[in-house]
Amino acid sequence: MSVKLNQIIQIIETHAPEKLAEDWDNVGLQVGSRQQIIKRILLTLDITAEVVDEAVKKQADLIIAHHPFIFNGLKTLSTDWEKGQIIAQLIKNDVAVYVAHTNLDKAARGLNHYLAEIMGLEKIKTLEPSNPTAYYKLVVFTPVEASPKIIEVLGKNGAGAIGDYDYCTYRSPGTGTFRPLEGAKPFIGDLNKLTSVSEDRIEAIVAAPDLKNLIAALKRNHPYEEMAYDVIALENGGLINENGLGKIGVLSQPMDAADFIANTKERLGLVALRGAGKVPDIVRRVAICSGAGADMIGLAKAKRADVLITGDLKHHDGQRALENNIWVLDAGHYGTEKWVTNCFQQILTAGLADACPEMIVAETARDFIVNY
Ligand SMILES: [Zn+2]
Repeated sequence: MSVKLNQIIQIIETHAPEKLAEDWDNVGLQVGSRQQIIKRILLTLDITAEVVDEAVKKQADLIIAHHPFIFNGLKTLSTDWEKGQIIAQLIKNDVAVYVAHTNLDKAARGLNHYLAEIMGLEKIKTLEPSNPTAYYKLVVFTPVEASPKIIEVLGKNGAGAIGDYDYCTYRSPGTGTFRPLEGAKPFIGDLNKLTSVSEDRIEAIVAAPDLKNLIAALKRNHPYEEMAYDVIALENGGLINENGLGKIGVLSQPMDAADFIANTKERLGLVALRGAGKVPDIVRRVAICSGAGADMIGLAKAKRADVLITGDLKHHDGQRALENNIWVLDAGHYGTEKWVTNCFQQILTAGLADACPEMIVAETARDFIVNY
């Protein structure tokens, strides 16, 4: 099947909005046009000359990568150096490049969530929540008979979504009063007469991006000419936000350290696994952070993780693990992030279903670090 590149970008950005990316990062469309028709996609962690050759050979129209290929400002497109040659080859062959990096790392159901699932973790939570969404409490007053419809509109438009639940609302009965003035066309009551009505006060939490559409939908469905409602700012955003770096969860079957090492190597498909710090007797609570996540050592300890799995561990990170009395396993930057191709596949298959273009994983993408 084929779709416009724009549709592919929209699906990825629904999962991993660009605004989640770190300020220093460079994500999004790096080469090509959103209007391009895409029939075949090559998925990769990194973009190298070999990966671009492979894309051209396999007639891919798009490369989706995790690590930005154009990172710091380009000063020249001269083909006398490798980056210039790669860009020239991409443009000559109409191959677009799209990158989702720290936005995918930090997405609630991005790369780290995928990794946590591979590791068989349950009760997965974000290790370091960030970029909190602002939330509001929306209160709507409605005649009792209209309450079911109003609750339906609230739920359908994203209000009351909390964790694994939606349509979470609270309703309390009361009496509303109003007096229709000249020009009014009241649903209940007569002109210039004070009217009392049995009403429900219905309240639900709503994320800021959903608020405007929700109020418009409520006004379309509310029986009153003038809908009475309150919008109250909340501090919940930082508390219920699941975007952010790393994940933490529990193993359904706690195991000893030796079994956990074997289990991790098998699940992540690793030939080598390095470790540091205090080895626990039993592993139950596991923190994970793809790429270089040694900065999470203190946080993993504070959140009572028995082990932190990450990559790129340095000598002094090992010392910090020891000082923090926590076990850290280094599965490698590549070892933790090669899974990004599966993560992209999962997102696009779910988002585009039958319309999804063919996806292939780059065979030439590899770990730059070699174990001898
Ligand atoms: Zn990385």
